[in-house]
Amino acid sequence: MKPPSFEYVAPVSLAEALDILSENGDDAKVLAGGQSLVPAMNFRLVEPALLVDLNGLNDLSYVKKEASGEIRIGAMTRQRVIERDPLIEATQPLLHETMPNIAHSQIRNRGTIGGSLVHADPAAELPMIMVTLDGRFKLRRSTGERWISAIDFYQGLFFTDLADDEILVEVGIPALKENTGTCFVEFARRKGDYALLGVAAVLTVDEAGICRGARLVYLNAGDIPIVATGAASLLIGEQPGSIVFEEAANHAVAEEIAPMGDIHASVPYLLHLARVLTVRALNRAYQRATLSHGN
Ligand code: FAD
Repeated sequence: MKPPSFEYVAPVSLAEALDILSENGDDAKVLAGGQSLVPAMNFRLVEPALLVDLNGLNDLSYVKKEASGEIRIGAMTRQRVIERDPLIEATQPLLHETMPNIAHSQIRNRGTIGGSLVHADPAAELPMIMVTLDGRFKLRRSTGERWISAIDFYQGLFFTDLADDEILVEVGIPALKENTGTCFVEFARRKGDYALLGVAAVLTVDEAGICRGARLVYLNAGDIPIVATGAASLLIGEQPGSIVFEEAANHAVAEEIAPMGDIHASVPYLLHLARVLTVRALNRAYQRATLSHGN
């Protein structure tokens, strides 16, 4: 199918793009990599009257490190650039490990970090990784800007706190604490498919190897990235190992996640998968926390 006709504009500056959005309200949609928006238009799931193409705004594409250690990524940075960026590899191993799981390289060549974060697919990797890492997003409108935490940004299925006249311009990711190990694992039916389920684990340990910080976040286990705070709290103060990891996984499965299931995977199968992947992710995160500082 092809989309209904629409107007197209390619602003040459962010200020121009923001003015166009403020004049057109919800008739307009921003075009980034087009890897989710264009298929949705072809299926006539969305029918914007005006597309505002951000692809000419090269100054929204960068990866840099602030003096605080926070990594800042411009919203139009292609997913493939992030995957190959040496600064990301050195400072944000969880993000680096996750990137190849997103679709195929052809899609990552076009798809942007901002597009994936705003699209808010519960099966997407980047929203749950930003929630896991306590990321924050800078949103601009013609009259000003605001920062919002990733966890507050996601409000429901494909639904975020972004207003019609706002553009996501930048992502901030704080530095990992010392003695922290991370791991992302997912299971997809074929390489490049959206995952049936995925989990990210972050563990911080002290000199004696006791767990002092823990975070477990799931993708495709609810409408938004699901933070399993109860499961993570079971790990704090404990000597990590298979028994506590299994207790945490059982708690997350029984109390905190709610995968929907579909023709590819039943709910009992997904819960089993979650249990197995959680233990695997925690084991690897713990090994990495103890082997070196932050992997
Ligand atoms: P677009 O498609 O251009 O835009 C998506 C939405 O975000 C639109 O509503 C648009 O208006 C809005 N938007 C974009 N940028 C901004 C901005 N800066 N500010 C405000 N609003 C903005 N994704 C995964 O995570 N995992 C997968 O396994 C996966 N598999 C895929 C497989 C296929 C076959 C395809 C086609 C896509 C897949 N994707 C997957 C989606 C892919 O990651 C997309 O790149 C991503 O979801 C959207 O990014 P985009 O830059 O293409 O955004």
